[in-house]
Amino acid sequence: MENIESLKEILQTPKKIAIISHRNPDGDAIGSSLGLFHYLSRRGHDATVIFPSRFPTLFNYLSGIDYILVDDDHPDKTKKVCEDADVIFCLDFNSLARVDRIGEVIAAQDAHKVMIDHHLDPDDFAEFTYSDPTASSTCEMLYDFIRMMGDTEMVDKTIGECLYTGILTDTGSFSYATSPRLYRTVADLCESGLDGTYIQNKIFNGQNEKQLRLLGYSITEGMRLYTNYNTGIIVLDMKDHRRFKIKRGDTEGIVNYVLKMKNMRMAILMCERETCVKMSFRSKGAFSVQEICQKYFNGGGHRNASGGVSHDTIGGTIKKLKEIFEIHREQLTAEPDY
Ligand code: 5GP
Ligand code: MN
Repeated sequence: MENIESLKEILQTPKKIAIISHRNPDGDAIGSSLGLFHYLSRRGHDATVIFPSRFPTLFNYLSGIDYILVDDDHPDKTKKVCEDADVIFCLDFNSLARVDRIGEVIAAQDAHKVMIDHHLDPDDFAEFTYSDPTASSTCEMLYDFIRMMGDTEMVDKTIGECLYTGILTDTGSFSYATSPRLYRTVADLCESGLDGTYIQNKIFNGQNEKQLRLLGYSITEGMRLYTNYNTGIIVLDMKDHRRFKIKRGDTEGIVNYVLKMKNMRMAILMCERETCVKMSFRSKGAFSVQEICQKYFNGGGHRNASGGVSHDTIGGTIKKLKEIFEIHREQLTAEPDY
């Protein structure tokens, strides 16, 4: 962040601060927001975390989770927090369009805006932008931000647990990112009191029976393979959503199983909603699902993990996908680079 010194100056005296992250918050959104919340509170600021929508109960072990405001549930309160804020932090998203209604509220404020994010193609809406698509997670960046602020000694077990949560979920437990910088950050967190195994258990061994059965069903019944394109699609329609009473977070991670097959280069999870089909894309190697999502499905994210939306039916969307596979046949069937 080039203008960090002016931000330091602003944060010298107690401020009212709103911390916002994206819809359907994941471990990185929640971990980075709560990590920043604890850090800023300790610095004497009055900070509030806001998410556009509710979050999975999986993350209830995180300290501070009970203070989060959800815009879908309390639109008046969240608007007031944004209007009163001197500083608005935007974490783990890089375009106000990603936060729906609250994005319009943020755009209308004169508050200092700070963006900390690791997605590709950031918009230029913040006075202070810290964007690093090479970072494994926003949580990794948040540790660097605290370092830039000269406050690493304030990182304790509580903040460490928040940041480690986002690092673990966004790296798939150190499989999608393995940089020296990441491991150094984690080493620092361990030295500050983090119990890594405890958090691993909370995140990866915290599923309920329904979620595990849904995973089995998604693979045995929902998966279709397009071997000519080294691609697999898992479809969960409205009927499946009713049958498994699918809630936010229940489908997290399912898409990754397709890539466990050696030859699979792209995996897609399609979830049918009332008005659209929400899609998660994953890939291995240089093949960029970010480009696919941006180009065809009004979405984006990272090279190997992105999301988008289709306003067609499931059948219509699969037809369009097959055309896309054909357009990208060469890349999808090239010699593996991973
Ligand atoms: P997931 O598939 O786990 O929901 O999301 C994977 C990545 O893609 C995340 O980093 C998420 O922020 C991003 N992403 C998911 N859906 C969308 C979308 O509709 N638009 C954009 N721009 N990014 C998305
Ligand atoms: Mn992230």
